[in-house]
Amino acid sequence: MSDDDKKDPKSPDHEELRKSLEGIFGKMSKTGFSFPGMTPAGSSQEEEDPFETEVAEKDDIFEFDYLPRDIKAHLDRFVISQDDAKKALAIAVCDHYNHVKSLKAQDDDAQPLEIQKQNVMVVGPTGVGKTYLIKHIAELVGVPFVKADATKFSETGYVGGDVDDLVRELVAKADGDVSLAEYGIIYIDEIDKLASTGGGMGRDVSGRGVQTTLLKLMEETEVALRNPNDMRGQMAAMMEMQQGKKSKETINTRHILFIVSGAFSGLEKIVRKRSAASQIGFTAESKEPEMDNELFKHVTSQDYIDFGFEAEFIGRIPVRVVCEHLQAPDLEAILKYSEGSLLRQYEREFEAYGIDVIFKDEGIKRISEMAAEEKTGARGLMTVGEQILRDFKYELPGTSVNELIVDADLIDNRETHLEKFRELGQELVVEKARQEVEAFVRDFKDKHNVIVTLEDDAVALIVEKAGAQARSVLQVARQLFRDYQFGLKLVQKNTGQKEFHLPASAVIDPDAFLSEMVVKSYKDQAQEKKSE
Ligand code: ADP
Repeated sequence: MSDDDKKDPKSPDHEELRKSLEGIFGKMSKTGFSFPGMTPAGSSQEEEDPFETEVAEKDDIFEFDYLPRDIKAHLDRFVISQDDAKKALAIAVCDHYNHVKSLKAQDDDAQPLEIQKQNVMVVGPTGVGKTYLIKHIAELVGVPFVKADATKFSETGYVGGDVDDLVRELVAKADGDVSLAEYGIIYIDEIDKLASTGGGMGRDVSGRGVQTTLLKLMEETEVALRNPNDMRGQMAAMMEMQQGKKSKETINTRHILFIVSGAFSGLEKIVRKRSAASQIGFTAESKEPEMDNELFKHVTSQDYIDFGFEAEFIGRIPVRVVCEHLQAPDLEAILKYSEGSLLRQYEREFEAYGIDVIFKDEGIKRISEMAAEEKTGARGLMTVGEQILRDFKYELPGTSVNELIVDADLIDNRETHLEKFRELGQELVVEKARQEVEAFVRDFKDKHNVIVTLEDDAVALIVEKAGAQARSVLQVARQLFRDYQFGLKLVQKNTGQKEFHLPASAVIDPDAFLSEMVVKSYKDQAQEKKSE
């Protein structure tokens, strides 16, 4: 008996089973794991992740050799202002990965080092660079990075899965390398939405529940690599067991760095109130407080607790930084100096049409001032830039214009400039139509030895038709007058007419116009004969 024969006929062949399971579960989960040889979910190519970072081989982390000033210098290339936040983050990241490094270097028998993880809280409004900072740190250090939104969590789970999915996502980002994922960064935005306001009802209760769940992750826990609700993952585990494979089943969260952030609107009032009460420098009469670096120095853990956080939760986040509001000059600097400046993007977009777009200082200033009014941080730059440039991106391509100077005048008198370009565009359309009409006339003469010309009204109507039918002027003219040679030759025979001028009515109803002309030519001929 061969080995094959010995197989239980009822037990499916591994390969077959693997294939059919791949088929069934292939598209089911985003965060689950792949079968050996399958593209890991979460790294699928059609779903491009803007936060996908280049991940280093796992040993690289342990060669972590950056100084806080190196990290700050790297961030300076992309992120404008937010100096205090950059420094605090750089220090926290260095401390964290230096601890990791020292643990790695430690003798296995040695007494384990006590470490307090440097989880970070970033307070700041939207669009001021919080995500941008963290993304660039993760990229530099070479660890996987996952961003989530706290509003997606509920006590019982997180839309589409549960809180633990965040940790599993790190593994997917690390291409399945669990050891690397164990040193990744998890960034949770809108953490302030988890605050309870003391009412003890509805969202407050679940917010507190989520804080407890997150706390567990931030401390140390083992997360199952496969979501118990992820059928595909569970089947994969079964398959591996059948094949006698034993792979790691959990991931430890001890060294995962957690960074949380939120706008915390209202926190400034809590601080102000307390500060005023304890006479530490803020007077009650000054205007609306804004959470800047100055005020932030006075924020205490108690303020976060008063805001609605559990003391244990806040206690696990020792590093706290503020990202300040961005003012117009900051936005201007972002456009001018950030390596990720939007201006480069606009330049590339116009370049695709052979147009050089040149941003003058005054223009950049104007865009920044308008963007600051949006009050959405650097995101306002995108909104304003799009508003200003959109119509130019429509009018210019295809014209003879190959340079667009964006200065204050262009921004302030946008309509006038656009009108000029529209006229140019219109001239271009007319010129192109004229050339096509000429080509039609030439072809007609070459093919049929009959000269036709089109009157201006007729050309205008053909251009209109061409636009409506999304066809070229030449195509429309050929179609309209496709059988004209027969009729025109008859007329020529009857009257000896050499040239035919086609008016608008010939375009409106070509058949009627031609029949009329032919009938008339017979009449004229008869008339002529009579008068002879
Ligand atoms: P948030 O603070 O809400 O996380 P992001 O970091 O996502 O905001 O910022 C949105 C975009 O705006 C970034 O991708 C980046 O292009 C730009 N941006 C925001 N803040 C800055 C900054 N301080 N310097 C340079 N670019 C910035």
